[in-house]
Amino acid sequence: MDILKTKSDMQEWSKNKKNQKKTICFVPTMGYLHQGHISLMEKGKPLCDELVLSIFVNPTQFGENEDLDSYPSNIKNDLSLAKNAGVTAVFLPNKNQIYPENFQTEISLQSLPKFLCGKFRPIHFGGVALVVTKLFNIVMPDVAIFGQKDYQQLQIIRQLTLDLDFDIQIVAGDIIREKDGLAMSSRNAYLSKSQRASALSLSKSLNLAKELITKGEKKSKAVKNQLESLICTFPETHIEYICFCNPKTLEDVDIIDRQVLLALAVKVGKTRLIDNALIDP
Ligand code: AMP
Repeated sequence: MDILKTKSDMQEWSKNKKNQKKTICFVPTMGYLHQGHISLMEKGKPLCDELVLSIFVNPTQFGENEDLDSYPSNIKNDLSLAKNAGVTAVFLPNKNQIYPENFQTEISLQSLPKFLCGKFRPIHFGGVALVVTKLFNIVMPDVAIFGQKDYQQLQIIRQLTLDLDFDIQIVAGDIIREKDGLAMSSRNAYLSKSQRASALSLSKSLNLAKELITKGEKKSKAVKNQLESLICTFPETHIEYICFCNPKTLEDVDIIDRQVLLALAVKVGKTRLIDNALIDP
């Protein structure tokens, strides 16, 4: 497994593989890898000749009062997990490689970032779009894999790929959960034992919503009220949003008469957790 720390080394590696007619699959991450990340690598491994993983905690996607400085990291363990998953190259740049002095360019999308997390994290998706664009230009993959755990991010990257004519196939990976239902996240490491129990309020809400909708409830407001009551029973929870929306446009849906995306963000203590599910009535 090759480890590349500069843009030029990474680009040269990819050009070299392309000259050998090898195809490249790419999994971008911020590291502190868990089974969710590994599932994306496993999904990508058979799709191409080469599998590239990037680990970069992207500063432009963190707001001022967010957890950029405390974001968990364990590069040694990440490299060992990557090697076991069959990764052939890891791109491990530092901040200056990606954002050298006098960096000026921004990328913004008009509509998708206005919904869900974008309402609470106004600069987040601009930062994501920027770093993914740069990583696409540096790694030059044929296929890139993103988790449905970050559903809005996935939709934004699909749109960005279409709008900017990246010749890259975007593949989605299922949400990987702990045995008790909690969606895996690097941020779960922040949770105390009691907060870890409260974090189950998210997956339990998704299950309750599925149950209510399958039983025939069509009004998203009615389901939302029940989810709010459920989440409130868990200590230290603070609901940021619970939204039923159109899975493509992310616009609010009031009447559930076709497939909807239920997305939620809940703070447990200081840790912000997200989860989602596509639900068919
Ligand atoms: P992150 O390191 O959190 O930026 O995530 C890197 C990639 O892993 C993104 O495409 C995420 O959507 C994906 N990911 C994170 N958690 C999970 C999970 N529990 N299941 C599947 N994919 C995930």
